[in-house]
Amino acid sequence: MAVKQDLRTPIVSVMGHVDHGKTTLLDRIRGSTVAEGEAGAITQHIGATEVPIDTIVSKCGNPALRDKFMVPGLLFIDTPGHHAFTSLRSRGGALADLAIVIVDINEGFMPQTIESLQILKRFKTPFVVVANKIDRIHGWEPQKNAPFIVSYNKQSERVKTELDRKFYEVVGELYNAGFNSERHDRVSDFQRNIGIIPISAVTGEGIADVLMVLLGLAQRFLEGNLHYDASVPGVGTVLEVKEEKGLGATIDVILYDGNLKKGDMIVVGSLGKPLHTKVRALLKPRPLTEIKSEEKFQQVQSVTAAIGVKISAPNLDSALAGSPVRVVTPETVDAISEEILNELEEVQIDTDALGITIKADTIGSLEALVNELKKEKIPIRKATVGDISQRDVVEVAAIEDPFYNVIIGFNVKVLPDAKDKVQSTEIKLFLSDVIYRLIDDYKDWAKEQKE
Ligand code: GDP
Ligand code: MG
Repeated sequence: MAVKQDLRTPIVSVMGHVDHGKTTLLDRIRGSTVAEGEAGAITQHIGATEVPIDTIVSKCGNPALRDKFMVPGLLFIDTPGHHAFTSLRSRGGALADLAIVIVDINEGFMPQTIESLQILKRFKTPFVVVANKIDRIHGWEPQKNAPFIVSYNKQSERVKTELDRKFYEVVGELYNAGFNSERHDRVSDFQRNIGIIPISAVTGEGIADVLMVLLGLAQRFLEGNLHYDASVPGVGTVLEVKEEKGLGATIDVILYDGNLKKGDMIVVGSLGKPLHTKVRALLKPRPLTEIKSEEKFQQVQSVTAAIGVKISAPNLDSALAGSPVRVVTPETVDAISEEILNELEEVQIDTDALGITIKADTIGSLEALVNELKKEKIPIRKATVGDISQRDVVEVAAIEDPFYNVIIGFNVKVLPDAKDKVQSTEIKLFLSDVIYRLIDDYKDWAKEQKE
């Protein structure tokens, strides 16, 4: 048996096209393990769900596997989509260690499927593809929560053939995207081939396979990255800045190294200079069994990576989603603030004198959008994080070149007063949560203008 080491829980993100089943898959992973209960129930974090190794292994019906894996479990980030990849880790890189790309086997690849794969390629993140909704195949006989192969073997020849046909379309599409792939139970080298797992997020078929393959990937590719030290000052990433009744601005954080205590001094990336503050409270969701309680959250004294937690502290209003959070001491505060400032400046974008204006929800997604626009040689006047404000609109309206009376917004809202303002101007707004759609729409529009 391998020597047990202190490996932290790998962080997993679920990506894929809208309606292909991200939320249902996360619910299924949560739901089925909650229902099983006994073997160390799952823990609900802020922004994440932790499934312990014992639960995963018991789902797979082979307790001997317990000794094979050294990670304590898997931490699924509840925010599906790009968020985990556009939220930066300190020193660059993605917040998620592993990913699931989900694709509806009946629909095949769509723009966000391809975009997810490109992001994963850029960050060199190990991932598995899940071919979802196999229960929709005509004639499918559902086998609730069965491993894929058990369920497959119970289907008629006709249904098997139909599944295989759809499955190889996914293989073909992955090949076009630059990846060799094979059904997960036939992959012998996950370095060379991406595993594809046929599942149904509704019937639970194949879910055990997903958990096992993720553990295998963690073990195979991440061991070196998962060592951590519970005694070092905490390091994390802001997933969201949220206003909470009675608390003011709070930040939802994934802590991926070290520990964090009530009373700690922290530095958080912000729009200007990084902000300093002192942790007033560390909050986690109250267990469902205590729904009678008025309070949504319960306080904890300290937390250790990897974990999702809400931080309540003064002055968090200007915190920036996607930016680093670090625990500091009076001795380290200046050096660490400087480091965070440098990291944020690295992604801060050099802009052109004249060009379009872009807004995005996180610092990482802004960087991704800017990269793509640069590839297309589209000039950018200003690129900032946040919703589209009245000030943005006024600035852009003042530009005299009609090609640049444009605001592109990725995953952002138009604030109400800005909405009114837009109507009285010639400004063209492009809003989407798919980068490629924004760029294509802008290019189509610019072409039309030229004609
Ligand atoms: P998301 O947009 O990727 O989060 O997709 P959702 O999880 O919201 O799923 C979109 C729709 O597909 C919902 O109506 C789900 O019930 C349905 N759905 C998701 N997974 C499955 C599946 O495995 N089988 C079937 N039949 N429906 C599914
Ligand atoms: Mg969803």
